[in-house]
Amino acid sequence: MSKTQFLNRLFDAHAKDLQEFYAEEEDIFICPICMTGFSRDAIKEKNVTDGHVWPKSIRMVSKKARNMHVLLCADCNHVAGERGDAQMQLHEEIRKGEETGKPHRSRIVHLRRKQDDIPISLNAVVSYNLEDKSITVSGRLDRDAKWRDSRPEDQARFMELFQKQEPVDILIHPPRDYKPELAEAGWITSAYLMGFYSLGYRFIFHPSLDPVREYILNSFDKTIKENPVKLNPDDFGIWEQKSGHSADPELLFMVPFELGKRVYLQANCLKYEIRLPFRYRYPVLMPILHRIIPGFAIKLPSLREAKETVFFSIPHNKISGHRSWYDDLLGTPHIKREPFPQDASSEESIVRQ
Ligand SMILES: [Zn+2]
Repeated sequence: MSKTQFLNRLFDAHAKDLQEFYAEEEDIFICPICMTGFSRDAIKEKNVTDGHVWPKSIRMVSKKARNMHVLLCADCNHVAGERGDAQMQLHEEIRKGEETGKPHRSRIVHLRRKQDDIPISLNAVVSYNLEDKSITVSGRLDRDAKWRDSRPEDQARFMELFQKQEPVDILIHPPRDYKPELAEAGWITSAYLMGFYSLGYRFIFHPSLDPVREYILNSFDKTIKENPVKLNPDDFGIWEQKSGHSADPELLFMVPFELGKRVYLQANCLKYEIRLPFRYRYPVLMPILHRIIPGFAIKLPSLREAKETVFFSIPHNKISGHRSWYDDLLGTPHIKREPFPQDASSEESIVRQ
C-alpha cells in the first residue's frame, strides 16, 4: 500500500466515524488535537499526515504500538514530535541511565568541598558504581591532554582537588534541553490519541476533554513556561508506578464503585498510568454492566462495600471501523452548529486557542 493509499484509508476511517453522528459534513477529517477541519485534498497538499499514537522508542519495542496510527494535521504532528515525543524519550534515557549508573549524554557536573565554595564546573561524562557508590568523572581530551569542553581554570581546580583526596559534593545536572513537564505532556498526548484511535470522535468531542486538548496545545507553545492547565487527579493526570506495565500500551475503562468517584479512561505503558476524563450516558452504564459482568447484581453490594474499581480492557479501534458498547455509552456528542475551522488553504485563517 502506498503512503497516499494509507493516508486515504485513515481519512476514510475518521470520516466514517464522524458521519455516524454528524451527517451534515460528508468527507471531512477533524484533527483531534487542534480541531481544524480538513477536506480530502489535504492529503495531496500534505496538510494532514500519518500520526503515530506512540513515540518511536515505544514503537521499537511494541508491535501493538507500531500498529496504532491516526491522521493528524501536519502542524500538530510536527510540534508534538519535537516537543512531548522527544522529551518523553529523553526522560526514559535519563531514567535508564540512573538505573544502570551510566547517565545519558555528557553532563555539567559541579564539585565542591564546602557548601559555600564556588563550584568547579565540568562538562563531563559521568558514571557511577551502584555498589560502592564511587563516581568516575571524565572528559573528552584534546591534543594537549586538556578537556575540550571545560574551562582551563575549572580543570586546574579539579586537579588540585583530586590531589588533595578530600571528600567532595558532586552535583550532576540533567541535560540542558531536558524538560520533564514536556515529557509528561508527551505521555498525556499519546494516551489522548490512543483514546481517539480506540473510541473515535464520540470520545474526544465531549467538553470534558477540552482541558486535555488545551493542556496538549499549551505544551506545543514555546512561549508558555508553565502549563496553566492544572491536572485534576480525579480523572486527568499521570502517575508513575514502581512495578510498571508492559511496553504494549493498554487502554482501560475504569469504573470505581466508590461514592463520588468518577469513571475514567486509563492508558498503561511502562511505568506510567495516564488518566483521562470519560463522560457517558448515565442510564446506559448499569444495564451494560449487568449484561457483561456475570452475576453483577449479586456482586454489586460487595463491590460498593469494598469500594472496588472494576476495569475493562478496550481492544477496539475506529481505524478498523469497530463498533462496541462504548459507542452506546458515549452516545451522540453535542456538536456546536457553527462549522469547524477549515484548514489554511481556505479563505478563513485558523485561530488556535
Ligand atoms: Zn492539528
